[in-house]
Amino acid sequence: TFISFEGIDGSGKSTQARLLAEALRARGHDVVLTREPGGSPGAEEIRALVLQGDPDRWSAETEILLFTAARRDHLERTIQPALDAGKIVICDRFADSTRMYQGLSRGDLREDVDKLHALMIGREPDVTVLIDMDPETGLTRALSRQGEDVRFEAFGAELQQKMRDGFLALAAEFPDRFLTIDGGRDIDAVAADVLQQVEARL
Ligand code: C5P
Repeated sequence: TFISFEGIDGSGKSTQARLLAEALRARGHDVVLTREPGGSPGAEEIRALVLQGDPDRWSAETEILLFTAARRDHLERTIQPALDAGKIVICDRFADSTRMYQGLSRGDLREDVDKLHALMIGREPDVTVLIDMDPETGLTRALSRQGEDVRFEAFGAELQQKMRDGFLALAAEFPDRFLTIDGGRDIDAVAADVLQQVEARL
């Protein structure tokens, strides 16, 4: 089973991905916890190229190519082998993040993202957990851990709102795989909700 986590910066999705991995392991499942961009040695190198340094180094189109290249490597080297071995894969972000960040926040490029995805990736997660979060709360949380790999261009209440709306629209577009969870509650309440809803899908 392939599970992805999505959400705006500061939504708490990485914490929730980790807590779900721990809970499923405690129940005896073999779980691989991974993340994007990254998740394989080559893809981590691409992550550093894209997320460190000047945020305007690459055009949105080039970023789509880089993120898709990273995803292809991640899928080949990490995700697919684990799925083939019968493991549960939990991935912090997947193609939906590219649909939102490169396809929506940096312009109107969703169609390009989808075409390249169909050509080079060709699969979606079985379950996508959207940690939905009020942008103001997400912004405050994201700013408090500003430092590594967090893109400054992502900080702006207006953009955060656009991304939240975009993720909710994506959940409506793919209702079969999306679970939308209210991330505005305390961590344990969110984690319990995630576990219960994911287990119902396993
Ligand atoms: O998930 P995480 O917070 O580690 O993501 C790191 C940064 O990469 C975030 O600031 C996010 O906005 C950015 N990102 C992006 N495009 C993607 C995936 C992540 O700009 N496709």
